[in-house]
Amino acid sequence: MFFGGAGVSTESGIPDFRGAEGIYTRAEGRIPPERILSHDFFFEHTEQFYDFYKKHMVYKDAKPNAAHKKLAELERAGKLRGVVTQNIDGLHQAAGSRNVKELHGSIHRNHCVKCGKVYRLEDVLNAAGVPRCACGGIIKPDVVLYGEALDDDTVSGSISLIRAADTLIVGGTSLTVYPAAGLIDFFHGKNLVLINKSETPYDGLATLRLYGSIGELLGSVAL
Ligand code: ZN
Repeated sequence: MFFGGAGVSTESGIPDFRGAEGIYTRAEGRIPPERILSHDFFFEHTEQFYDFYKKHMVYKDAKPNAAHKKLAELERAGKLRGVVTQNIDGLHQAAGSRNVKELHGSIHRNHCVKCGKVYRLEDVLNAAGVPRCACGGIIKPDVVLYGEALDDDTVSGSISLIRAADTLIVGGTSLTVYPAAGLIDFFHGKNLVLINKSETPYDGLATLRLYGSIGELLGSVAL
């Protein structure tokens, strides 16, 4: 099993939004990304939300890197059960992975909050201002915002995969963002492999720790 965070996508040119500048408004000063990406902010300031979202959350030309590709190859070879990811960019599927649990949702799925009609990413990006459904409702990305719960089926599916794994490779996450980080606690297999640029709170539990580029490290794995 592979469990990955933002660091898996930074090597495809997608920066962690936590590093992004917030929005400045006259009334409130600088609004931090965590507030802009909240459930309440989406409904109260939809236009500002989409300004930030399109600029800092959607990278439609991003391509899978060596880590995404190797994971897809490992799955095809029958050596990897699946991927649990905190990323919303769909790059694992673009690389060919089939069993992907997206804990925080996906920019590629969108729906009308009024009638439920499903929309593509292009429909959201091509809309000037707030994307709207033919029925007049606002289109919302199926991305888990702050103040929203993770999808139950996705979480239970992720837990089942992690529980059943004999080896868990964790990459590109500092393992500090809950509740996603808590999933590691469900792993009771033999080998915990951590790949990260710096230390994590779980390093002491790891069978193998690798510090460096996840694309280079995973990419060099022989099938
Ligand atoms: Zn609608």
